[in-house]
Amino acid sequence: MKILDFLFPPACSICNKPVTEHGSLCPTCWAKFNWISDPKCCKCGYPFPADLDLGPNPLCPVCASCSNELDWIRSACVYDDVSRNIMLPFKHAGALRYQKIMSRSMIAAMHELKEDVDLVLPVPLAYGRLWKRGYNQATLLAKPIANTLNVKMDVASVRRKYRPDMGHKNAKQRLENIHGVFEVIKPENIKDKTILLVDDVMTTGSTFMELNRVLKQAGAKAVYGIVFCRVVRAI
Ligand SMILES: [Zn+2]
Ligand SMILES: [Zn+2]
Repeated sequence: MKILDFLFPPACSICNKPVTEHGSLCPTCWAKFNWISDPKCCKCGYPFPADLDLGPNPLCPVCASCSNELDWIRSACVYDDVSRNIMLPFKHAGALRYQKIMSRSMIAAMHELKEDVDLVLPVPLAYGRLWKRGYNQATLLAKPIANTLNVKMDVASVRRKYRPDMGHKNAKQRLENIHGVFEVIKPENIKDKTILLVDDVMTTGSTFMELNRVLKQAGAKAVYGIVFCRVVRAI
């Protein structure tokens, strides 16, 4: 290990400046991310302005109106130019050097989760996409998370059918487009389980809501979610 460090000294995954550990970021690059901290929605993790005091267990308008049925979801950082610049190459261009920094920040963002998780489930990719891309970015993030929690990662119980891209659709269109896209093929693995969904990004939350729906239908006890970055729209 020491010889390897000598030959390949640890460098910041973004700017290549020397760092103390492989797969980490230098302080300058780290500080550029919009990491999510309190205050935030206690259910979906939506970040509130720092000066907003909503008391203990604050809820965003979406969760307060009960339109979010997910039990708990958190994101390490806000989706912006900085997070997109590592998220997109990781997703589409095999930039696996970002895996450690992404999964570690997600693990850190999960520290408030008090309940035990039985199963870590990366958001499935349709088989056609998996074949083309060669990997599911959610699985690469879920693996270290499952290892840290010391629970099983499940990539066999839920299947995703192919649907055209949702690129420029609004929340309602996304929800309609994704309805029925997931199929629980091994309900015996899901029943009575507390499940943690893992993905790289959350846009409108429609993917998570739909997975929550089918997993609860299959008897899941609770469904949580963790993503690297999330879109934060003004509410
Ligand atoms: Zn750097
Ligand atoms: Zn919320």
